[in-house]
Amino acid sequence: MSEEIKSFQCPYCGVGCGLFINEKGKIKGDFEHPANRGDICKKPLYLPKVFETGRIEKPLYRENKKDNFKKISWEEAYEILAKKFSSLSPDEVYFYLSGQLLTEDIYVANKLVKGFLKTNNIDANSRLCMATAVTAYKMAFGSDGPPCTYEDIDDADTFLFIGSNAAIAHPVLFKRVLNRKRKTENALIITVDPVETETAKKSDVYIQIRAGTDTVFLNSVLYLLHKRGELDYEFIEKYTEGFEEALKEAEKYPPEVAKEICGVDEEDIQIVADAFAKSKKLVSFWCQGLNQSVNGTMKNLALINLHLATGRLNERGCPFSLTGQPNAMGGREMGYLTNGLPGYRDVRNEEERKFMEEFWNTQGIKDTPGPTITEAIDLILQDRIKLLWVVCTNPVISLPKVNKVKEALEKVFLVVQDAYFNDTVKYANLVLPAAQLGEKEGVMTGSDRTITLCKKFRKPYGESKPDWQIFTEFARKLGFEKAFPYKNNREIFEELKKATKGRLCDISDFTYEKLPKRWGKRWLYEELKFPTPSGRARFHPAVFEVANEEEGEFILLTGRLKNQWHTMTRTGKSPELLKGEIPPFVLMNPEDAQELGIEEGQEVELISKYGSAVRVVRFENIAKKHLFAPFGYPEEFGDLTNTLLSDRVDPYSKEPDLKYVKVSVRPLTCSSASERLSHTSLSCSSPDGESSREA
Ligand code: SF4
Repeated sequence: MSEEIKSFQCPYCGVGCGLFINEKGKIKGDFEHPANRGDICKKPLYLPKVFETGRIEKPLYRENKKDNFKKISWEEAYEILAKKFSSLSPDEVYFYLSGQLLTEDIYVANKLVKGFLKTNNIDANSRLCMATAVTAYKMAFGSDGPPCTYEDIDDADTFLFIGSNAAIAHPVLFKRVLNRKRKTENALIITVDPVETETAKKSDVYIQIRAGTDTVFLNSVLYLLHKRGELDYEFIEKYTEGFEEALKEAEKYPPEVAKEICGVDEEDIQIVADAFAKSKKLVSFWCQGLNQSVNGTMKNLALINLHLATGRLNERGCPFSLTGQPNAMGGREMGYLTNGLPGYRDVRNEEERKFMEEFWNTQGIKDTPGPTITEAIDLILQDRIKLLWVVCTNPVISLPKVNKVKEALEKVFLVVQDAYFNDTVKYANLVLPAAQLGEKEGVMTGSDRTITLCKKFRKPYGESKPDWQIFTEFARKLGFEKAFPYKNNREIFEELKKATKGRLCDISDFTYEKLPKRWGKRWLYEELKFPTPSGRARFHPAVFEVANEEEGEFILLTGRLKNQWHTMTRTGKSPELLKGEIPPFVLMNPEDAQELGIEEGQEVELISKYGSAVRVVRFENIAKKHLFAPFGYPEEFGDLTNTLLSDRVDPYSKEPDLKYVKVSVRPLTCSSASERLSHTSLSCSSPDGESSREA
């Protein structure tokens, strides 16, 4: 690869594709990268067009949110921040980071907050994404590292997608699965989902399940396999513990019981049981469909239980959690959630805390996890958190119960550090322009533990700076010059990699020059020895629970749009990617629509206990009395989807229940829709859903 061609990791999903930008500014897949081997999907192709669109150029400030922003210098910005921080106690400030930051950015922010500001008031948008998978992996295997890699796709014959629409959310990975299927006799792809998604349409078997009931379905598969004597009892005996308790829970759900709860046929349970019993190698993939649930950890554990009970690890299979964001894995390695410390350490572990104190030459890291982001919103409203610093994420769109979030953002002193103007900036007091992809250098880790160097190929836009540099300069302003001496990202990488020495995610001998490279062996637990106190993997009883706090005829699910990335900050600026995705729509079963006299293309108002949103109806094969509305549309497109959602969380991972809320549906006539949306001109009858609302 010539020096003029710069490689980087895709800034979108967690597949972590290696890309490069050539001399003409075109983005292509990197054939030498193990995650994608030259493949690429549509989303990153349009990146160059938005490198400079909607960017924040200079630091901006206003004390009063009713005033306009004033341009200020970086020195003035640090001065304002230092003054604010000196007037607040450590637990009155809160940092909310992102899985789209580089590992070097995350490390410096976490070091500053946990090591020197002496607060664990730091969380990341992984809380909305991978927190549940992290929790379940740790409970089952003793660590958060994904047990297998993408190579496991290439010799598997059976694939189970449950709670994952990988065909649109992780397209390059899904194409790899389809390629494997084409080359493999009797290969089987099974998808379990309430919606017949693109993944389901390309699968051999589609099982339509009632939302929220995956724990029951998977428990029933375990029950059935045990009843048939088709479990791997030798594996269970040698390498695991807790099987009896897990089985006892599963026995509550024989197929004749499960089918009623899940809305499936008994045969569907048998198909999945057969796959676990008979396939050569079975890889199961899951994502937010299992994670973003009040029962999320249990759903994850029910799936992992099946793998343990059938010995489906390493050469025989793998439970593979797909990460949502490009560097959620790097964030996990650096411990950027409320409880973490670098090298998969935990603030609650005295030895690990002491190690980091010595490593950072500091004292007093707190030994209890801080509040999560949804708890922080409550603390803001209680006046206990007074400053919120949001970095590279857009909580006003992505957090649940938006009306409450807005109230909190209006109240708090809000710092937004971002490359782009987004809807959260509207609530900010201080805006710090951050350099984005290509304007800074550093590493990211994809879903299968492969670390990629993202090279710099552009000058930072305006006065923007790399995030690590902003935190470094602010730390120095506070007097921590000695601990934050970094002149460049390489110095940070050299430091952070030492913190991983001897840990599961040991990258201490990695160098920028030899990336991409995966940490750990192909199979993280190759010897079937697990980092748990007993060295065994752990079954857990997977207890079923479903939210029952609201009334409404329909269950609303939320999720991604095919060609958009999260809150559309970049992808939404590209007309090519927006085509077919606006106006905001809701998927509805045609039979349900007929009962309510709703036609395709008609606008409806979705009403929950927490708010309402207008959407255009599209027909889809979705379970009856279920709806699906994509999240992520910015306010310029109308009501926010997450306005409808509750902020209840999974009790173990504290991940919000983003995929389940009861709503009612009110069909809108042209006149009622016009009244509600007076800023738009409407024509109410576009069946393709592409042009019924013109902004
Ligand atoms: Fe980027 Fe994901 Fe597409 Fe790969 S599959 S190019 S990582 S969005």
